[in-house]
Amino acid sequence: MAKLAIKGGTPVRSKKDLFPAYNSIGEEEKAAALRVIGKGELSGFLGSWGKAFLGGAEVKAFEEAWAKKFGVKYAVSMNSAANALIASVGALGIEPGDEVIVTPFSMCISATAPLFYGAVPIFADIEPEYFCLDPKSVEERITPRTKAILVVDIFGGAHDSSAVNAIAKKHNLKVLADSAQCPGAMDGKKFVGTLSDIGIYSLNVHKNINTGEGAVAVTDNEELATRLRMIRNHAEATVSGSGVENISNLIGFNSRLTELNAALANEQLKKMDGLNAARRKNVAYLRERTQDMRGFRPAKERAGTESVFHHMPFLYDEAVVGIPRDTFVQAIQAELPETRMREGFGPLIYGGYINAHMYPVFQKKIAFGTKGYPFVSPLYSGNPDYSKGICPVAERLYDREFIGTEMMRPGMAEKDLDDVITAFHKVYENRAELP
Ligand SMILES: *Cc1c(COP(=O)(O)O)cnc(C)c1O
Repeated sequence: MAKLAIKGGTPVRSKKDLFPAYNSIGEEEKAAALRVIGKGELSGFLGSWGKAFLGGAEVKAFEEAWAKKFGVKYAVSMNSAANALIASVGALGIEPGDEVIVTPFSMCISATAPLFYGAVPIFADIEPEYFCLDPKSVEERITPRTKAILVVDIFGGAHDSSAVNAIAKKHNLKVLADSAQCPGAMDGKKFVGTLSDIGIYSLNVHKNINTGEGAVAVTDNEELATRLRMIRNHAEATVSGSGVENISNLIGFNSRLTELNAALANEQLKKMDGLNAARRKNVAYLRERTQDMRGFRPAKERAGTESVFHHMPFLYDEAVVGIPRDTFVQAIQAELPETRMREGFGPLIYGGYINAHMYPVFQKKIAFGTKGYPFVSPLYSGNPDYSKGICPVAERLYDREFIGTEMMRPGMAEKDLDDVITAFHKVYENRAELP
């Protein structure tokens, strides 16, 4: 029996033999960057209504290319998906006293974005196989105050758009899709992120395609596009002269993308399909070879959709495997090295993910100032419950059942993936050595 590395045995792969980096930045980006620097104009934006309100040539070209690729009328670039989400909440007319249904199983901003316009996030539970908002739970959380549903297409996979959109239609709600993790994923014949009132994508350094920091919001609604552009670029100053009459929520930020980032993003967009296909290929390879362990298996992909696997999700059943999930994950980490360009992050496998309702902002109900706004406000008549237990599926996934990995990103060759597979099997087969 092979001794586990966590018990002092030899690891499957030496800690010094790092996994290859995922680096999608190459000659094309270098040429694009030099072109922009050669021109000298690193941003074409001006914070007032007029010719430069929509940014410079690179920003416009990138937005046009994105809209065309995704089959939407409007693509509005921003400097982060967090800012794109906040701008979207504003554009949708969400206001103090409103509630927005959100998911706990995502990055914090997917849950906190409504707060910036004085609205209160209400957590619904998620689906145990796909980790997106569970339409049944969403419907249960609707009150007369509900204004919108903020869905997340987590790990690169699509949420249940037909069920969520049907609920939204029935209750007259807006839908905002946080598709930060999945540019290029498909939901039927449409791109994930394009089936809601607004969808947003992140282009930060950790995502499938990146420009360091950056994002795009998409919509088919002209008024929403205008409002997004205003909030992106000092709305209070840009409404003058624009002819826009509804100025509610139109106090702006500066969420503008630079010319340099837009030029890089445009090159990344051209590479998107190829990079996502490489990811899917690696996931298929891993999936095929990790299906024979009872109690530890790859999560399914929703029928009729195509994930781009920002992360690869697994499900773990402690009762079947016989040891706690975190022990299992630590034992796998001991068998494998870190990944280049992610040194210091540890081997790229983890247990858990996020339960956003447990963050202090919700537990203490302190967001803006010290008096409880917007949870406590004359404009708000609800009393949201953020206690542990409100999202049992998200909580048990976080506590015991979810395992995610990024050791399937492009750059991982078959021999690298084989090491990952060997480590999974070695730990699984020798788990009796563990407490
Ligand atoms: C990365 C991410 C964001 C935020 O993206 P930034 O561009 O870094 O602001 C939002 N939501 C989800 C689900 C993400 O993964």
